[in-house]
Amino acid sequence: MSADRQAQLSVVEDLRHPGVRRPVRRVLEFGPVGTTAAQLAGDGLVEADLVVEAVGDDIVVTGVLRAPWTGACRRCLGEVAGELEVPVREIFERRPTEGETYRLGDGMVDLAPMVREAVLLGLPLAPLCSVDCAGPDPDRFPARPVDAVPPDAGGDTPRDPRWAVLDELRFDTPDDPPPPPSAD
Ligand SMILES: [Zn+2]
Repeated sequence: MSADRQAQLSVVEDLRHPGVRRPVRRVLEFGPVGTTAAQLAGDGLVEADLVVEAVGDDIVVTGVLRAPWTGACRRCLGEVAGELEVPVREIFERRPTEGETYRLGDGMVDLAPMVREAVLLGLPLAPLCSVDCAGPDPDRFPARPVDAVPPDAGGDTPRDPRWAVLDELRFDTPDDPPPPPSAD
């Protein structure tokens, strides 16, 4: 039996029987939503295994969302795929608080905004194709010009003792570089 694709959910019966937990399973389609790092795979199907319950005049929806995603490895930029699993616990109320609760309409709730938001937050921000991916890693190997001196150059590295004499020498370095030779 395929799951219901409707994002609209009637909660009339739930509101009549507060405290009764009702399982609801939906599969919602969002398309390729996401970030440049990771998007929902294919048609953007999200499977929602939820439990709906009226608490006072509000509807509380708990459960878990599952969705396949694809993205680009942050090191080698190769394709990465995975399945996210996001727990949800949201409140639908008649006067929702922006960014905190969702709107409870006339005996109806719209699951789509809740599911979409939770999935977007659940997508990986910096996916890796594998933990030991050998591709370039900007965190560990910051890009720098090849002829630049690494910050720790020479630190504890033993040097040729013949160079030690140079350490004794002091050069008076002018604050400003010498003027370029004149064109004459
Ligand atoms: Zn990789």
